[in-house]
Amino acid sequence: MKNNDYDAIVIGAGFSGAVAAREIADSGKKVLIIEKRKQIGGNMYECFDKDGIRIHLYGPHIFHTNNEDVFRYLKRFANFYKYEHKVIGKIKNRLVPIPFNYKSLDILFNKTEATEIKKKLSELYPNIHKISVLELVNNNDETIKKFGEYVYENVFANYTAKQWGIPVSKIDKSVINRVPVVLGYDDRYFDDKIQYMPEDGFTELFKNMLESENIDIKLNTNILDIIKLRDGKTYIADKEYINPIIFTGAVDEFLEYKYGRLPYRSLNLVFENYKVDKFQENSVVNYPNEEEFTRITEFKYLTKQRTDRNTTILKEYPIMYNEETAKKSDPYYPIQNEKNMETYNKYKNELEKYNNIYLVGRLAEYKYYNMDIAIERALNLTSEIMEEKEWKIKSK
Ligand SMILES: Cc1cc2nc3c(=O)[nH]c(=O)nc-3n(C[C@H](O)[C@H](O)[C@H](O)COP(=O)(O)OP(=O)(O)OC[C@H]3O[C@@H](n4cnc5c(N)ncnc54)[C@H](O)[C@@H]3O)c2cc1C
Repeated sequence: MKNNDYDAIVIGAGFSGAVAAREIADSGKKVLIIEKRKQIGGNMYECFDKDGIRIHLYGPHIFHTNNEDVFRYLKRFANFYKYEHKVIGKIKNRLVPIPFNYKSLDILFNKTEATEIKKKLSELYPNIHKISVLELVNNNDETIKKFGEYVYENVFANYTAKQWGIPVSKIDKSVINRVPVVLGYDDRYFDDKIQYMPEDGFTELFKNMLESENIDIKLNTNILDIIKLRDGKTYIADKEYINPIIFTGAVDEFLEYKYGRLPYRSLNLVFENYKVDKFQENSVVNYPNEEEFTRITEFKYLTKQRTDRNTTILKEYPIMYNEETAKKSDPYYPIQNEKNMETYNKYKNELEKYNNIYLVGRLAEYKYYNMDIAIERALNLTSEIMEEKEWKIKSK
């Protein structure tokens, strides 16, 4: 098929692009997906490494949501198993649950201190499950204040400074405000109602999602090599293309960085293979303080893969994403501040002049989205486009 025969073109085969493509395909329209990588799945891509261990190539991804519609939608493409994620962290050479909870308190404080802190917390915050560390730090009660400062310094400050590459003193209060302390023994990392993983992994889920006679996929193709934007018109392979183009890549790259680069934090992902059954006692161990990496993930815990001879782990070293590191890394975490949002809006405003271009996703919207939100946004956008175009949704 020629490009112009497609009713829509979707750039990027991560969740934002794949969901959009599937929705349009289900309405009986033909879609072309253009993906610059050699595989589908975006950041959620999983594959088997040289030892046959299933890994998440772009960092560990755990599905969790309170949105039942999103989960119902995903269940069309995969079977899922219940997986409640737990994280432990190395604090003062002990391994304790993260977010910090009563069990962490019991491990790190002596019995008398721990009992006093728990008693005061339950008096001050009856029936409250979770509070911000800032609330504790600003408390008038000396014991609670000191406890808050302990959690802030040992669990949060260095981890965040490492992750964002800034001194602790420059960390925005709103970020600190989001750091929870759990008032109880619930040691789950997320408290969403729905916490599941796809049985055969995310790549298989994507394959099923994109399995449609109405979807064609072109891999190893950077849209920048074939698209031209001129005076409000889009040209693909030198022919004007008037149907919707759903773009899920980075807007600064799309417009050749004409307003400057949008800064991102990224990760240097270091995989290590071991000839042992288990490397660590939990799927994820955080290292807030001494080490240069922030966390170690052992994939077998996430994927439930059974093999007792070897295991693969991933160490994450935070880095800046820039011209130099771009060759080896990917833009991961948008750094949202006033200046960067001003730059982003210049790109967005310019792209809005092209009324067949739609931006959706973590990169195109320069905003960190968990998978469920990315899926929800892609579903909403496509239903808007379909309504506008009067494309009927066929029964699925
Ligand atoms: C390290 C890390 C861990 C995460 N862990 C979790 C988690 O545990 N749970 C959770 O819910 N969310 C997690 N997320 C968020 C999750 O990755 C996002 O929700 C998801 O990536 C959003 O999908 P997307 O399609 O918008 O972007 P992406 O997955 O990044 O997909 C964009 C696709 O577009 C392609 N593309 C870009 N530019 C072009 C171009 N010019 N031409 C052609 N193709 C192009 C890219 O190659 C990519 O395949 C994590 C994110 C990171 C960075």
